Amino acid sequence: MKQDLIEINISHPTTSKISQVDWDNLPFGKVFTDHMLVMDYKNGKWQSPEIVPFGPIPMHPAMSAIHYGQSIFEGMKAYSRENGDVVLFRPEMNAKRFMESCERLCMPAFDEELFVELVRKLVEVDKNWVPKKEGAALYIRPFIFGTDEAIGIKPSDTYKFVIFLCPVGAYYSQPVNVKIEEYYTRAAAGGVGRAKTAGNYAAALYPAKKGQENGYHQLLWTDAKEHKFIEESGTMNICFMINGTLVTPSEDEDTILRGTTKRTLVDVADKWGIPVEERKVSVEEIVKAIEDGTLNEAFGAGTAATIATIVKIGYRDGDFILSEPTEDDFSMKAKKYLDDLKAGKTEDPDGWCLVV
Ligand SMILES: *Cc1c(COP(=O)(O)O)cnc(C)c1O
Repeated sequence: MKQDLIEINISHPTTSKISQVDWDNLPFGKVFTDHMLVMDYKNGKWQSPEIVPFGPIPMHPAMSAIHYGQSIFEGMKAYSRENGDVVLFRPEMNAKRFMESCERLCMPAFDEELFVELVRKLVEVDKNWVPKKEGAALYIRPFIFGTDEAIGIKPSDTYKFVIFLCPVGAYYSQPVNVKIEEYYTRAAAGGVGRAKTAGNYAAALYPAKKGQENGYHQLLWTDAKEHKFIEESGTMNICFMINGTLVTPSEDEDTILRGTTKRTLVDVADKWGIPVEERKVSVEEIVKAIEDGTLNEAFGAGTAATIATIVKIGYRDGDFILSEPTEDDFSMKAKKYLDDLKAGKTEDPDGWCLVV
């Protein structure tokens, strides 16, 4: 670690907001901790990071990010354990993905270890904000956006990296209804689907809203070219259990976000001796597996919920109803294993949890 990069100046707010928090009713992403971390990029290099009181960021009306979308983010969580420890889950994977998103959006990447260290430091400063309740967590939102005060279309010369934190309640996703989307597109080959960049989410709002109007929580995105292959479920990765094999779209496609949760589920399946196939997954194959009874489970995977069980798949004019998983099914066992791992209730042989 480069010594000069981890010297962080910390300034505190005059009063803490923590006593105002209603810990039993935490709306997602609307409650913020006392501090945030800020680091600016200018004159060709990242400047010293600072931890400052949480608050608004001044903005020039021509600020490049709001016009042309040079903006990327990450989403991760810190969990508290009964012994008072706070842990991050595989933060190095978020660091790697963050720097890959930077590269795709022509933004200046920085050291992955520094990313983890900055997240760790901020969480340490606001450690008493990590909810203690089982299932609850501190959501961590690191992001970078272009800050040039000019509307020429080119990569910004200046950027701001910020991390803020939100205590969030237990997110037990209700079982979801999804619709196979055959017209709108989330990501096209050669596009930015692999990057966690703001525009991808803006572009998905309209098709998602149409799906919701028809009773579906999320869309099952298919490939942009033929709409024959399933890629993701809303803002989660998609997994199927077919005849005892975990089947999930291959991350070789640059239309698919490389999720930490999905990667972890694949690792867990490997550990447990469950066969895994990471490859193209066609709509036709899934429909056939439902019809012949070999589709055992379908679920989305992401940091927010870990697992979102899919109970209904809309396809063209009809719906397929799937049975809810039982305790013995892979998705439920894997979720419990990961919950226990984060809570420190089971061994962590792979070193996935980093104690802050
Ligand atoms: C963030 C995200 C995921 C899930 O990634 P995790 O690292 O598991 O949280 C999947 N798909 C999309 C489009 C995402 O933005």
